Amino acid sequence: MHNAPLNFPIPPSEAQVVADLIAQTGLDAADRAKIAARAAGLVRDIRASAKPGLMEVFLAEYGLSTDEGVALMCLAEALLRVPDAITMDALIEDKISPSDWGVHLGHSASPMVNASTWALMLTGRVLNEGEPGVTGHLRAAVKRLGEPVIRSAVGRAMKEMGRQFVLGETIQSAMKRGAGMEARGYTYSYDMLGEAARTEQDALRYQAAYATAIEAIGLGCKGDDIRANPGISVKLSALYARYEESQRERVLQELVPRVSKLARLAARRGMGFNIDAEEQDRLALSADVIEAVLADPALEGWDGFGVVVQAYGPRAGAMIDWLNATAERLDRKLMVRLVKGAYWDTEIKRTQVLGLAGFPVFTAKTATDISYMANARKLLGMSDRIYPQFATHNAHTVAAVLEMAEAMGVDSYEFQRLHGMGEQMHDLVHAAEGTRCRIYAPVGAHRDLLAYLVRRLLENGANSSFVNQIVDEAVPAEVVATCPIEAHKPRGITPGTDLFAPERANSIGRDVMAAPDRAAIDAARGPFRTTVFAASPLMAVAHAGGAPVIIANPAQPDDIVGQLVPATGGDVAAALAAAQVWDAAPAERAAVLNEAADLYEANLGRFFALLTREAGKGLPDCEGELREAVDFLRYYAARIDPAMTPRGRLVCISPWNFPLAIFTGQIAGALAAGNAVLAKPAEQTPLVAHLAAGLMLQAGVPATALQVLPGDGATVGAALTRDPRVDGVVFTGSTETAMVIRRAMAENLAPGAPLIAETGGLNAMIVDSTALPEQAVRDIVASAFQSAGQRCSALRCLYVQEDIADNLLQMLCGAMDALHLGDPWHLATDIGPVIDAAAAQDIRAYVSQARRERRVLHELRAPDTGFFVAPVIVEVGGIADMPREVFGPVLHVVRFKARDLAKVMEAVNARGYGLTFGLHTRIDNRVQEVVEAMRVGNLYVNRNQIGAVVGSQPFGGEGLSGTGPKAGGPDYVARLAAPVPAPVVSDQTQAADLAAVQAELAKGVAGWRHRNA
Ligand SMILES: Cc1cc2nc3c(=O)[nH]c(=O)nc-3n(C[C@H](O)[C@H](O)[C@H](O)COP(=O)(O)OP(=O)(O)OC[C@H]3O[C@@H](n4cnc5c(N)ncnc54)[C@H](O)[C@@H]3O)c2cc1C
Repeated sequence: MHNAPLNFPIPPSEAQVVADLIAQTGLDAADRAKIAARAAGLVRDIRASAKPGLMEVFLAEYGLSTDEGVALMCLAEALLRVPDAITMDALIEDKISPSDWGVHLGHSASPMVNASTWALMLTGRVLNEGEPGVTGHLRAAVKRLGEPVIRSAVGRAMKEMGRQFVLGETIQSAMKRGAGMEARGYTYSYDMLGEAARTEQDALRYQAAYATAIEAIGLGCKGDDIRANPGISVKLSALYARYEESQRERVLQELVPRVSKLARLAARRGMGFNIDAEEQDRLALSADVIEAVLADPALEGWDGFGVVVQAYGPRAGAMIDWLNATAERLDRKLMVRLVKGAYWDTEIKRTQVLGLAGFPVFTAKTATDISYMANARKLLGMSDRIYPQFATHNAHTVAAVLEMAEAMGVDSYEFQRLHGMGEQMHDLVHAAEGTRCRIYAPVGAHRDLLAYLVRRLLENGANSSFVNQIVDEAVPAEVVATCPIEAHKPRGITPGTDLFAPERANSIGRDVMAAPDRAAIDAARGPFRTTVFAASPLMAVAHAGGAPVIIANPAQPDDIVGQLVPATGGDVAAALAAAQVWDAAPAERAAVLNEAADLYEANLGRFFALLTREAGKGLPDCEGELREAVDFLRYYAARIDPAMTPRGRLVCISPWNFPLAIFTGQIAGALAAGNAVLAKPAEQTPLVAHLAAGLMLQAGVPATALQVLPGDGATVGAALTRDPRVDGVVFTGSTETAMVIRRAMAENLAPGAPLIAETGGLNAMIVDSTALPEQAVRDIVASAFQSAGQRCSALRCLYVQEDIADNLLQMLCGAMDALHLGDPWHLATDIGPVIDAAAAQDIRAYVSQARRERRVLHELRAPDTGFFVAPVIVEVGGIADMPREVFGPVLHVVRFKARDLAKVMEAVNARGYGLTFGLHTRIDNRVQEVVEAMRVGNLYVNRNQIGAVVGSQPFGGEGLSGTGPKAGGPDYVARLAAPVPAPVVSDQTQAADLAAVQAELAKGVAGWRHRNA
């Protein structure tokens, strides 16, 4: 087991870590000056060199800061995988015609870049039909006649570009191409393109490809010296579809033997075998995999096992210490490749999204450079166990290593660079110093280049990057080579906790992939693992209460979660009589809601235990739900306007699928506007509601302003929504119930009383042939199956372009097979139960019918106990064939023809729902077209379609899916306040809204009945 520091991704103080690292470099002022001068000399020499590297030249002309650079990259990334002509043409037109290629003409020193510019400019001219008159018509004609020509020309250009970044499409061709550099004294580490396997089949394919490559590379080994032989670099994410902390046990059982097998093969050939470093949330897990592999006795005496360490991680030093100690303990020698790290943007974004207080990577580029120097020093001091490999294209970093390693022989370490990058610098150093240099060379089909290419562009496109600076002659050599210690200044990147400051604190997030956060969650929820909770009406006056009801755990029905005393009809009447608007000053209301948010956070353990045991939620869902509830409280508190007056008594009816977030959001919005709230939680989840409301009362909401009436819809819901004392209803639930409520309100309530309804949907997603299948599959799985498909936003109907359908569906089925169903208490569980026996029965009956009709494409197996429904894919001819919303892990799929995109959108719109919609495409025009055509509340592009965020991604549908302002949006609280002056207009608007909902709902239900008649 690895040491503890590796388990803590985020340091308490980045500044302290940097100060320690500066000390660890051991460089005094004189050393630093010497290094900077040496580096500046290198920069001048590189600039004077007659043969600039391709990456540098390319970035000089088409950096990520130009539209054309971005267009070119998008094209290079997507074109080669598009199989059909229609989509290829759409993609080419999308990327090439709007850009101004002319400005790049003749600029570059590279004939390759200039020739590409010519071709793209001409193509752009031809494709641009915007011009009126004869020229415009002529262009249109040329375009029509010339489409196949344009297609193949651009296709060839993209292949050529791919060739620049990939050494060869097969290992044999790569080795052949690499022979020239080998003759000049370089060695290679081959990297088989492709990573992040989605399915077991993909992982096995990658494993076989690695094995074949090792055999082939082995033939190129010249002797026993690992340093002189070529090697291979592997990514653990390619070898196992679920290489993630949540699947730790399976990873250790199944991934380790795969890696061991490959390592043995490499050991037999006497070559280097290197484990690439990936995202920080996998670091601790990677250490355990590495240790398990390294302990294999068959690897004794082989010095070729390599590990990459990323200097941008504050844990780099701890990782190196651990590797050294492990090598010592197992009596092994290791190679350690020190890099800066290639996932910086992803790491920063991920931690912000999770709402964490800091970052697992440094936030200042200079800190990474300092860390690199300090860790280089550390590695050089471990040469009895570790062969250091310094991978960098930065002249200052190279100069620092050369200085620090001066006393050592040049054979005791090596430099490394990426194929296509840093060529001149390493040529110069290699020639002048006699140091070794290895080239990391991607091998594989050009269409698999994406992830690699994007990382290269992101890291080199940044202004702070060395490659970017060296091509900019305006930056003096001395500046390019500035000592990072001298230049270091902390950089203020906003952490996740402060994203919404100063308005409000963001909800505190936890990283369930990090051991300390997991331990904290377990410590908090553990004591409630078997607690029997109790709930009853929370009223300003005494309640009578009905016969107690037992609430059981849907994953294990013999686990009794609690007991509920429901409200009676009499309780409803008494609560309505006791209800009083909350007349506290606006600032006080805000303070109380904020206090409630803090209390929620302090009660994490109870909430997580209840959300799992009562509602069947897995850990990531518990995390998301608690955070959303907290955000609702703070966001609505911040929306309180002193000019607002309450409407009066508002009824809030919430569903079981978000028993905390939606329950809280409705109430917090209504309370923010000063209303008296009468809340009815779902029958299935009164316990979590009881806890939440209790905390709101504890925070200071008066008992007359918040009363909770648990019970069934027929008793409590019906009594509440037909009482004339009620001034409005906020409802989330089924379209059918919304209809019933609408009718009751129309008959009994004042005409202006609003119904804010959030109902179901038949949510669709379109995946066209430009989409990246791995990304689309990841998002389809999350959209359709996360939370067992029990989100109103969940994907129900997937439209896949027929040209890619076979492959995509095969990958989708494989990705489903990697899902784990079980008790949601465990982190390893991906899919928990559905909410109750009735839901399970209903969904199973639906699937049985589809099975009888031979429409089931793929289905998993569900556990035998508990209310589990196995995720399933059902084929349908179109969304029109779907009888209704099936609220569970049932995904319908449809194949569509490229030319029928508009028809698909029409069909989806025709169903009348309008909640969420997903789109996977690389064509920007198409995104625009779809956004304009689709009548939905939330449209998601190239991501999953679940998971709205309060304040930044408000959520709400239109048509049959609901009405009213979006939850978590700027208008929500105002809508729950009494209409402001010009009341006549406002009342009319509301009446019109209500009439519109009524009409929509009536149409939808009538249509549904008709179809099912
Ligand atoms: C042989 C080889 C193998 C590699 N293998 C891996 C691998 O397994 N895993 C991996 O992740 N990378 C790997 N890399 C990629 C490597 O991380 C990048 O090439 C490297 O980061 C670029 O560093 P540089 O010294 O050449 O350039 P520089 O321009 O000096 O540094 C750029 C780097 O600085 C860091 N950075 C940028 N902005 C900031 C900021 N604001 N705060 C903190 N840090 C910042 C990033 O790490 C960025 O990549 C490998 C590189 C080589 C040459």
